[in-house]
Amino acid sequence: MPIYLDCHATTPVDPRVLDAMLPYFTEHFGNPASLTHAYGWEAEAAVKLARETLADAIKATPEEIVFTSGATEANNLAIKGVAEAYFSRGRHLITVQTEHSAVLDPCRYLQSLGFEVTYLPVQPDGLIDLDQLEKAFRPDTILVSVMAANNEIGVLQPLAAIGELCRQHSVLFHTDAAQAIAKIPLDVNAMNIDLMSLTAHKVYGPKGIGALYVRRRNPRVQLAPQLHGGGHERGMRSGTLYTPQIVGFAKAVELGLAEMPQETERVQRLRDRLWSALEPLGGVYLNGHATQRLAGNLNISVEGVDGQALLLGLQPIAAVSSGSACSSAKTEPSHVLTALGRSPQLAYASLRFGIGRFNTAEEMDQVAAGAIATITALRNTNTQNLY
Ligand SMILES: *Cc1c(COP(=O)(O)O)cnc(C)c1O
Repeated sequence: MPIYLDCHATTPVDPRVLDAMLPYFTEHFGNPASLTHAYGWEAEAAVKLARETLADAIKATPEEIVFTSGATEANNLAIKGVAEAYFSRGRHLITVQTEHSAVLDPCRYLQSLGFEVTYLPVQPDGLIDLDQLEKAFRPDTILVSVMAANNEIGVLQPLAAIGELCRQHSVLFHTDAAQAIAKIPLDVNAMNIDLMSLTAHKVYGPKGIGALYVRRRNPRVQLAPQLHGGGHERGMRSGTLYTPQIVGFAKAVELGLAEMPQETERVQRLRDRLWSALEPLGGVYLNGHATQRLAGNLNISVEGVDGQALLLGLQPIAAVSSGSACSSAKTEPSHVLTALGRSPQLAYASLRFGIGRFNTAEEMDQVAAGAIATITALRNTNTQNLY
């Protein structure tokens, strides 16, 4: 198998996370909503503990955590749930062109219902311009949704500054923190965040579990549920809680936070090692801000090669992605790289390296050597074809 460098798409479950989960499939299989017997109590206690761990991780309270199937569902619940609950106050939302499709698509859906959405552009480094955000507020704006860390270029948006502007304008602030949880410090109070989407599988937890943080005080956020049923999660998201996944999610975040200082440094050294090896090749460009980005993210555009051929050539060496995995079925260049102002060729011929917990320095050297050989060979073929 090639070296795995696609940690923004998903990560393996850490064995310590799996160990924590396993008893909840078999021995402690109860339904956490079954409060008439010990099987239910056991499961309920585990969910309660997990909820506390996750709330602590973002400086929230346990009652503000709503479990979902992942960040896609959390984004849908936040955006459509707020729109539905606040439409009598206003029908305007603000988001950013470089958001994940799980934010952009709910916004487009709301437009089809008559809402208006402003899609803020980004600067060439991928950061939003706060003056432009300030100018985008309208009296009928009900929600601002800006992601914490970008899934393609790793760029970290200035959450605290955005939160402050939203608070000044009395507009709710949602952030998709799928890539940010346990990678950078998050504090919903210091950053004035009202809703935050989380997922487990980007931080060595299982797939199919996530959460939405929903502020309960100053202000108390109203949310229209998108899944109706048994009234779980204080009515905001019905459905039997998936105890093993919830336990694994909390364990993954707990481990991630405990190891964050050392791990951020280690992963960044790996990322810098890879980039230092690739840069001398020439005609390779870093996408996104050089320092205001996730430690494990390297996204580059390569001049003079075909994007598809580049990806194919690298396939035996490293598992990486081009643009975003979610849009790899489409043949359009990445909407994120296009928003940075990259030409179609440079947007097509891009590589996203997502470096994580289980990668080593030796792997960086192997991948760099493989990438250099592939790019050089492709460029030589291109030159021959020209003459
Ligand atoms: C992965 C990802 C999502 C989707 O999360 P799921 O849990 O897979 O639904 C949403 N937003 C961002 C920024 C992501 O990276």
